[in-house]
Amino acid sequence: MARIAIDAGHGGTDPGAVYNGRLEKDDTLKLALAVGEILQQNGVDVVYTRTEDIYQTPFQKAVAANQADADFLVSIHRNSSPTPNQYTGVETLVYDKSGEKLEMAENINSQMEKVGFRNIGVKERPGLVVLRRSKMPAVLVEAGFLNSEEDNRLFDEEFDKIAQGIAQGILDTLQGSGAAQTPPAEDPSIYYRVQTGAYRNLDNALRERDQLESEGYPVFIIEKDGYYLVQVGAFRNLGNATRMEGILRSSGYQTYITT
Ligand SMILES: [Zn+2]
Repeated sequence: MARIAIDAGHGGTDPGAVYNGRLEKDDTLKLALAVGEILQQNGVDVVYTRTEDIYQTPFQKAVAANQADADFLVSIHRNSSPTPNQYTGVETLVYDKSGEKLEMAENINSQMEKVGFRNIGVKERPGLVVLRRSKMPAVLVEAGFLNSEEDNRLFDEEFDKIAQGIAQGILDTLQGSGAAQTPPAEDPSIYYRVQTGAYRNLDNALRERDQLESEGYPVFIIEKDGYYLVQVGAFRNLGNATRMEGILRSSGYQTYITT
């Protein structure tokens, strides 16, 4: 059974976008719970980053999905334009335009188009922490502009169809690609790991491991030739290992990929 992490964007002291007393965090929670309920009715295992009005950093949201070992993360937001009623439409954000997350983003957008939203496409946003720090394919749905009267009317009047559409986009992706269970042909005997350090002293290796672990990485230590090697992984797919290396490097770790 596929497991989907659903994130209601923002929360608590972070309202997200605000327009005429309407708060993004309230719309996202309502929609996240409705989407999750439909997925559960369709036999999907659902975990939520939050089910009430609490504050979480985007990093905590990514870690929650990582710790739940979800197959996909779907983060739900509403958009905002610099001035009211400037733009309308739904867009879905991804770390990069590849793989199942791109497929899911396109499926969700086309469902939203059927509900009546303008489809403003799939955009790459590699800087977003919730997309960058999650280990599974992740999409961030901007369900219309919160400061557009037109989108708000659609959001309120067609709420059930919107929830149904997002759930359908997710379900279509799970069915279309055999979920995350069957990766493309790869040599099953080769695993790639991203090494962040090699230490003579075990305490130094443990310190680095604890740091990485606290940041949500799948990390372990192996001993080789008198060194304690700190490694993140393992990955079947070199592309995934390379992506993880990029994330670790941007966090200041010195890395190289090993098998
Ligand atoms: Zn937002």
